[in-house]
Amino acid sequence: MKEHHYHQDTLMIHEGYVDKEHQGSLAVPLYQTSTYAFETASQGEKRFSGVEEGNVYSRLGNPTVRVLEERITALEKGGATLAFASGMAAVSAILVHLTKTGDHILCSRGIYGCTFGLLSLLEDKYSISHDLIRMGSEEEIESAVTSNTVCIYIETPINPTMELVDLQAVMNVAKRHGLKVVVDNTFSSPFLQNPIEFGADFVLHSATKYINGHGDVIAGLLTGKDGEEIQKIRGSVQKDFGGIISPFDAWLLLRGLKTLSIRMERHTANAEVLLRFLKKQDLVDTVYYPYDVDNPQYEIAKRQMRAGGGLISFTIKGGKKEAQQFLDALRLIKIAVSLGDAETLIQHPATMTHAVVPERQREQMGITDSLLRLSVGLEHVDDLMKDLEIAFTQVGKTIQHQS
Ligand SMILES: *Cc1c(COP(=O)(O)O)cnc(C)c1O
Repeated sequence: MKEHHYHQDTLMIHEGYVDKEHQGSLAVPLYQTSTYAFETASQGEKRFSGVEEGNVYSRLGNPTVRVLEERITALEKGGATLAFASGMAAVSAILVHLTKTGDHILCSRGIYGCTFGLLSLLEDKYSISHDLIRMGSEEEIESAVTSNTVCIYIETPINPTMELVDLQAVMNVAKRHGLKVVVDNTFSSPFLQNPIEFGADFVLHSATKYINGHGDVIAGLLTGKDGEEIQKIRGSVQKDFGGIISPFDAWLLLRGLKTLSIRMERHTANAEVLLRFLKKQDLVDTVYYPYDVDNPQYEIAKRQMRAGGGLISFTIKGGKKEAQQFLDALRLIKIAVSLGDAETLIQHPATMTHAVVPERQREQMGITDSLLRLSVGLEHVDDLMKDLEIAFTQVGKTIQHQS
């Protein structure tokens, strides 16, 4: 199946699966095995040379995992993909692959908390340095490149303020300086954004989020523009660090992927309704959403994202107390970290996902005590609105009572 023949929606359901056993199984078979029998001399080629074709041991490759990897390669328009046991296993694999002692990594100022932790570890143990910068323009990115910079590592949209990094600007700088570009595409999913189309070398996902979409798997994916380079990582960092995905989790991801496009459409449609609703609330100061006509970065959003997706952040009048009161008043919407599930989740970044970030840095990034992040789920949007409305009324009453 060649990807250019089919739309993304079709690839999510079919790509990479051939019924080699001729059993007629429509679902991809689950090869829950750790090892594979070698053939005897009379059976054929899989012998003892150490470079056998085919399956040897599941840390090196598994037929169920392979279907997932091919499907993601098609969706991200890359050369090849590796599946990992977590998003962080994918992040650490690519950073270990690209760097050595003395190198420098240039990062967007907002990155996932554990990625930040990993960068500190690389710095402390291996003297691999990094800078987190605002990347507001091509000049700003260029001026932060040093003689030992080897790669640019970004997230866009940035959690939780939905700030965007202009992919084209990053690629222009990377090209001039011969730098590799890695994009953590978790927030958009391959349905909304394909950084390889803009020239990124690597795209990674916490598949725990939208790709699985059902809140029951931890997994990661790394796609490379250059398939051969990915195969090198398969035979080195992935094989020897060993953070591979289990066949069953790969199977669950294949199942989740079938509905990625319709889920993303619904996440987005619900988010758009809630965006209008939140903007009308007296108790809301600011709403952050990529596809908002009032967003100063709306033009960038339209250039690199097909739609706004399911994440919205907003600030509530008052501070930490009001934010927490608001959360406590919700019934249907669950207080939880993570995102991209069928269930709508809400969290308070200053005390939850970003509690470890020093306060000054948090403030620079716009993560105030009154900021809340919603991962809009797949429920009926009227029920979500009602839940939010009740919580706003409750907080409003308390504020009135106090004044
Ligand atoms: C969750 C997340 C990760 C880490 O993924 P895990 O699957 O939890 O290891 C990395 N980047 C982003 C943007 C995430 O949201």
